[in-house]
Amino acid sequence: MSGRQLEITKKIREYQSLVAPANLIAVTKYSPVEDVYFAYEAMQFDFGENRVLDLKEKAQWFVDHNLKNVRWHFIGHLQSNKVKELLKIPHLVSIHSIDSIKLLEEIYHRSHYFEGEELKLFLQVNTSKEDEKSGFENVDELKTAIDYILKQKNAKIKLAGLMTMATIRTAEVEKEANRCFSELRNIKENLEHHFHLKDLQLSMGMSNDFKIALKHHTNFVRIGSSIFQSHT
Ligand SMILES: *Cc1c(COP(=O)(O)O)cnc(C)c1O
Repeated sequence: MSGRQLEITKKIREYQSLVAPANLIAVTKYSPVEDVYFAYEAMQFDFGENRVLDLKEKAQWFVDHNLKNVRWHFIGHLQSNKVKELLKIPHLVSIHSIDSIKLLEEIYHRSHYFEGEELKLFLQVNTSKEDEKSGFENVDELKTAIDYILKQKNAKIKLAGLMTMATIRTAEVEKEANRCFSELRNIKENLEHHFHLKDLQLSMGMSNDFKIALKHHTNFVRIGSSIFQSHT
């Protein structure tokens, strides 16, 4: 094993156990595919990417090398004109960044391009209220979106839950993360009650604030830089 592989193996094991029982999504947006492969060899199978083209290239590399257990999560802002290309990507399992009804309509309109078993959708909620963050702004908008998904009765493309990012530009990272994550949890409970749903999942927590997300019982954390940009 190279030094780099050892380093990544160690980080993956460390973070998998730190976040358990939540699921670790290793975010590979700054990483070359070799690093992703080292993580895969360390039994990390869930990966997140935020650009369609980068995801397409990495997913194709895994196909070319006959590596099948990988599960790709799209986590970035998704433009309507990239939906078709995204849906065609092999081993895509979820989109965490559904931020408008328009995008939902485009996904269901193009759903025949999806060839996997199941695609899980997370609705992104703008809890931080920072201008550049996308996402649904309130519970009414989310209700409209969920209504729309449930009416599709699509056997493959389904509602999974809610995603958020905490405020970044703040001196009070911890306090803001607590505020954003508890708000997402309240919204989840509100929506579960309204739609008689039992198990909406939460996707929240990144390198800086995943410990706080775990306190709020997140199901998925998305961690990139602390795993792949470590210099230990
Ligand atoms: C980059 C990114 C992450 C991971 O962030 P780190 O701080 O590198 O852990 C998580 N979620 C989203 C949506 C991202 O774009």
